[in-house]
Amino acid sequence: MRVAIVGGGLAGFVAYTTLLHGGMEPEDVTVFDASGRDPAAVWRRRAEAIRQQRMRSESDGHCLPTSFPGLAVRAARRRVSPLPIVQSLCNRYHPTVAEFLEHVAEVQARTGWETRVVARRIERVTAVEDGFVLEGAERTFRHVLLALGHPGLNVPAELEADPRSVHAYEPHEYAADVAVVGAGMAAATEWLNALAAGARVTSVRRREPLRRPLNVPRALFSRRGLADYHTSGAGARTELLEHLLEPSFPSGQTWDGPLEDATRLGRFSVASQVDGEEQVICATGFKRGFAQDRLLGRLVDEHRLETHDRWLVLSPDCTVPALTDADRTLSIAGAAAQWAYPAADTLVGAKYAARGFLSRITACRTR
Ligand SMILES: Cc1cc2nc3c(=O)[nH]c(=O)nc-3n(C[C@H](O)[C@H](O)[C@H](O)COP(=O)(O)OP(=O)(O)OC[C@H]3O[C@@H](n4cnc5c(N)ncnc54)[C@H](O)[C@@H]3O)c2cc1C
Repeated sequence: MRVAIVGGGLAGFVAYTTLLHGGMEPEDVTVFDASGRDPAAVWRRRAEAIRQQRMRSESDGHCLPTSFPGLAVRAARRRVSPLPIVQSLCNRYHPTVAEFLEHVAEVQARTGWETRVVARRIERVTAVEDGFVLEGAERTFRHVLLALGHPGLNVPAELEADPRSVHAYEPHEYAADVAVVGAGMAAATEWLNALAAGARVTSVRRREPLRRPLNVPRALFSRRGLADYHTSGAGARTELLEHLLEPSFPSGQTWDGPLEDATRLGRFSVASQVDGEEQVICATGFKRGFAQDRLLGRLVDEHRLETHDRWLVLSPDCTVPALTDADRTLSIAGAAAQWAYPAADTLVGAKYAARGFLSRITACRTR
């Protein structure tokens, strides 16, 4: 079995556990990762930078192949209390980041992950008759999943060379007078962090944030919502995907209480541009689109793959239609798979892509 996963972050890790659950042996799978053998390394650095305490996702935001039992059941067993399960039934259970990372470490040790990871960047993927040549691996693989993560942090051009600026997902402390650019979940987290650290905060934003519990509406996680999405035309899809990128964070007193208090005390205000603040935190997310990633950009150019705006067009199961058939599979997981699954950049999205990949391999006539 010649299966490769390029990118050993959380999405690649979820794909690996899914393949094992589907009957493959660890030695059937080779994982290539440019930055090391810890699947949570990239994620942990970002979550720590914004001092994230609880997961945004709920009980099913984990790295196991089946959705149930999730992290709520695990917490209920450990605490000998049904509370996490009750909270989970009302969509109110959010595991702590520490619990999540413990779970990742446990699954990592149990599945032999580290023995399957080759610490290497793959520069190019080229389709050949019986699969794909991975440049940097000097081997051909019949089934390949690309789980490359985001193509980099996005910093507004005018702030790139500004010595006061730091991206929210890079390690930082807080100055006494802070501007936070952006208005999504990371920005809202940073407003509260900086206020708690005693800073005066200016929220620099171009538009008002929406208030919603998850980045993507719940309907789009459901079979029915997804089926509607898959039947919609390219124009409607891009419109929806653009809408999902609008800044948002959950509603509730946890957010509003400290902001109202700070506004009253003159410690929190809103502005349309950065002024003379001592520190500028760019909570401006990631670079967007397949073309920003060198490997994906080359893949598209060299194989003339179909794209729409900045999205790579995928089949509903996250495979690349022109390069997937009965004998070989090219799948995408993570942020670049949004065309197939709007919430692709979540743990649930990683499971969705992984299951599509496994189904294709299982159905392959020349495994
Ligand atoms: C602060 C924060 C909090 C989040 N909270 C949640 C949450 O609570 N719940 C949830 O479901 N989701 C959450 N997410 C979203 C999501 O789970 C993450 O974005 C997740 O890390 C995506 O995993 P990934 O594997 O696609 O990308 P990454 O974790 O970035 O991993 C990609 C890996 O691919 C490697 N790579 C890239 N290119 C190559 C190449 N050419 N060759 C070899 N290796 C390569 C990189 O080195 C990296 O290790 C959060 C995201 C952030 C930033």
